[in-house]
Amino acid sequence: MISLAVVGVPLELLAVLAGGLGAIIGSFLNVLIYRMHTGRSLNGRSHCLSCGRLLRWYHLVPVVSYFALRGRCGCCGAWFTPRYAAVEILTATLFALVVLMAVDVVEVMMLWAIMSVLVVIVVYDLRHLIIPDELVVTLVLLTTARAGYWAWLYLDSTLPFLATAVAGLTVAGFFFLLWYLSGGRWLGFGDVKLSFPLALLVGSSGAFSMVVLSFWVGAGVSLCLLGLSTLARRLRGKTPVWFLGRTLTMKSAVPFAPFLVAGALLVFFFHVDVLALFSWNAT
Ligand SMILES: [Zn+2]
Repeated sequence: MISLAVVGVPLELLAVLAGGLGAIIGSFLNVLIYRMHTGRSLNGRSHCLSCGRLLRWYHLVPVVSYFALRGRCGCCGAWFTPRYAAVEILTATLFALVVLMAVDVVEVMMLWAIMSVLVVIVVYDLRHLIIPDELVVTLVLLTTARAGYWAWLYLDSTLPFLATAVAGLTVAGFFFLLWYLSGGRWLGFGDVKLSFPLALLVGSSGAFSMVVLSFWVGAGVSLCLLGLSTLARRLRGKTPVWFLGRTLTMKSAVPFAPFLVAGALLVFFFHVDVLALFSWNAT
């Protein structure tokens, strides 16, 4: 075990460095998300989708280039989707948070990998309303490895590991029931599969809060989008609201995976405990 404190660098500086690494990884994840399941290779140089020119190295500095060029192609001025910068900023933030909370170097590595897969899953689901199976399988392997590592290193019994596994199965069973009863209208089967590794990530003590928070975040975001689209209809006649490249209507399928991941990360990084939110009222 190599503790982060042993490295001898202040934790805040490590977090900033981790953020920089996260931005670079995020820009690679953008390429991965864009080219996944398209048959395009991962090692071709990036080029502008509008004018086709190859992007120079100074157009490819994560986050910085996007804002320096004000979101446009350096050659032809075509707009780039803000998704690229959003993915880089999100990955950078998650990488920094991992360093602030992980206990040793091995866990940092595992969590960076887990966060990277989560970013790809969320963005892919937002774009395509589907979660590729290989991403879920990768996530299951990584979260199982992390739970096993913890049990092996820090706990002298296998009970917590078993409790985590049971929590994972319970959460997945609950979502399976929702999926089955709604005939797949409330959430997709991909969300059922995803809930298992996410529960492994937050553990048995966080699984309940994760589920509740994912519904709260989902309800909040859905209400905001509904309000926005109603407002836009009032203001601009029938002009539809665009959200992440899709037109929103009352019946739009809203992907559930981003809410699940949001719930899991709120519990994981900020230890949000749904039951504790209410207990101060009762006492
Ligand atoms: Zn261009």
